[in-house]
Amino acid sequence: MQLTVNIADQLKPRPDENNLGFGTLFTDHMFNMDYSPEQGWHNPRIEPYGALELDPATMVLHYGQAVFEGLKAFRTSDGRVQLFRPAENMKRMNRSCDLLCIPHIDEDFTLQALKKLVEIEKQWVPGAPGTSLYIRPTIIATDPYLGVRASHTYRFFIILSPVGAYYAEGFNPVKIMVSHDHVRAVRGGVGEAKTPGNYAASLLAGEKAQQEGYTQVLWLDGVERKYIEEVGSMNIFFVIDGELVTPALNGSILPGITRDAVLTLARSWNMKASERRISIDEVIAAHEKGTLEEIFGSGTAAVISPVGELKYGDKIIAVGDGKVGPVAQRLFDAITDIQYGRVEDTHGWIEAVV
Ligand SMILES: *Cc1c(COP(=O)(O)O)cnc(C)c1O
Repeated sequence: MQLTVNIADQLKPRPDENNLGFGTLFTDHMFNMDYSPEQGWHNPRIEPYGALELDPATMVLHYGQAVFEGLKAFRTSDGRVQLFRPAENMKRMNRSCDLLCIPHIDEDFTLQALKKLVEIEKQWVPGAPGTSLYIRPTIIATDPYLGVRASHTYRFFIILSPVGAYYAEGFNPVKIMVSHDHVRAVRGGVGEAKTPGNYAASLLAGEKAQQEGYTQVLWLDGVERKYIEEVGSMNIFFVIDGELVTPALNGSILPGITRDAVLTLARSWNMKASERRISIDEVIAAHEKGTLEEIFGSGTAAVISPVGELKYGDKIIAVGDGKVGPVAQRLFDAITDIQYGRVEDTHGWIEAVV
């Protein structure tokens, strides 16, 4: 396949790097590629950013057959642009495709196209502390058809958005509500895929949590409503009596790339790091015994997000006196040091763009 490039005549004014927010600004170009049963994936192209024209019967709008990814490009202090474990995103996208009956992409070709797009948009990778260029690869079902089946045609696109520092006001612990009434996903479903329906399913519980002053929801398993799964768009970790614990990947949890980096780093520091079932009752018991040392989330957007409070029914579990724990801080520093090129990458996690 030959990637074609069509550069925009008119470029947008560059935004103020100190006021980027998240996900509202988009760069000058995007990547597009189409799928048909006859041609497979074809016509890969980088072209000016623009609206998609879709028939109102387009299947993705009715049945949600779509997958996406999220990763970032970082600017180093000497002006290089680099990606963090992007091949893992391509691999995970194909695993999501399997669950949604979407044909596989060529991981190597797509990663090369993604890098080319970021290279063309390199001026859009911000350099202010904590900022980055967020990358959103997406595949949608495009047959105009109202019957329920897998689509025959698809569009793959990649858009880029410069994003601000997640911790503009400092690295502060968040308050999280444990959901009992609602569940996000069940084993055997599509919880381990990055697919839009999972996020639609999480909105109501999220709104209820917000109304009570909590930023996100911690999901319990969909069967027994007892075992911890993950937070909105983050995996979750506990430090209990010196042991780092995160729920095992059981089919209903999204296998986070940051989660994997956290486990790898903790093990390289000789911490005991376990992937296992952990119930909300175990967390409450550890809190009551005084052995619950830290709770934090992991994900591309925030990297590490310390949790200062969990609410479960009428129980409040306060951790760390409103301060960031040492494990969360060390992981945040280690991962961001690698991402921004402040330390040598000994794990092979960095891929240079320019
Ligand atoms: C993307 C995502 C994560 C985090 O994955 P990363 O690869 O670390 O960004 C965790 N949970 C859900 C539901 C997600 O969508």
